Amino acid sequence: SIVVTGATGQLGRLIVSALLDRGVPAERIVAVGRDTDRLADLADTGVVIRQADYDRPESLRAAFDGAEKLMFVSGSEVGRRVAQHGNVVAAARQVGVELVVYTSIAHADTSTLALAAEHRATEELIRDSGLRYVFLRNSWYLENYTGQLPTYLRHGVAGAAGDGRVSAATRADYAAAAAAVLTGSGATGTRYELGGTPFTMTELAAEISRQTGTTVSYLDLPVAKYTELLVAAGLPEAYAAALADADRGLAQGELEVGNDLAELLGRAPTTLAEAIRAAR
Ligand code: NDP
Repeated sequence: SIVVTGATGQLGRLIVSALLDRGVPAERIVAVGRDTDRLADLADTGVVIRQADYDRPESLRAAFDGAEKLMFVSGSEVGRRVAQHGNVVAAARQVGVELVVYTSIAHADTSTLALAAEHRATEELIRDSGLRYVFLRNSWYLENYTGQLPTYLRHGVAGAAGDGRVSAATRADYAAAAAAVLTGSGATGTRYELGGTPFTMTELAAEISRQTGTTVSYLDLPVAKYTELLVAAGLPEAYAAALADADRGLAQGELEVGNDLAELLGRAPTTLAEAIRAAR
């Protein structure tokens, strides 16, 4: 079977759908989450549902039982993920999965983003485990931007990204790429740097202006000022700092990647313009 963690999350759910779209029989897919009530609709389609928590090793071993392939979606509890991910890797080894596919971050081995540290550590744990692996080093989600359209239209686009370009792609495209790797459709690499056509924050503002007729501009701020703005907007301090720090890396090209996503998909990824159109 193919076991998908983080199935209650946005990406994990889309990966389950992408596997079904590729013709993987529902009973061969195991969707894993902490709160299985939120997976009830998937159970109705015949997908197998199992409960597990990255903090509870025995739950992971039980959830991974019989798995040939493990789609390991990185957790969301920043700061706690090295220990949690270590539990996932240990359980994968104990049950003897044939392949671990892990959602990492762009340029995980060299990235200076604070958020990259736990991904880099996880990649090392996986490499050291002796398991066969594929790293899907995902750049940003387009939804990180399109989800803020109302804010942009009211206040403009703010950031600390300078003239840096971000290869953002939709979660659905990352999920389709993951399904391609999990079903072995011509994917033979062990690391894919995944993302869409890169754009700057100025280009993001220009595209929003073009589509809405409302002039939106990009205000570039120092990292500390952008952090303050995010805190003032209601984000927790640590999260605001991590996002502003990511913009610092973005400014240096650390979230810009090549064409691996288009190659895995066999088509162009959804563009910024298309994603904005869909979000409106
Ligand atoms: P979500 O927050 O929607 O989903 C995260 C998933 O991880 C959820 O299913 C969550 O379970 C699960 N999870 C978190 N902690 C644990 C735990 N202790 N045990 C078991 N499961 C756990 O994020 P997305 O789906 O949008 O993104 C997937 C991952 O990608 C994120 O977790 C994060 O690592 C990374 N990410 C990437 C971004 C990008 O732009 N590329 C942006 C943001 C995150 P539960 O539903 O129970 O909380």
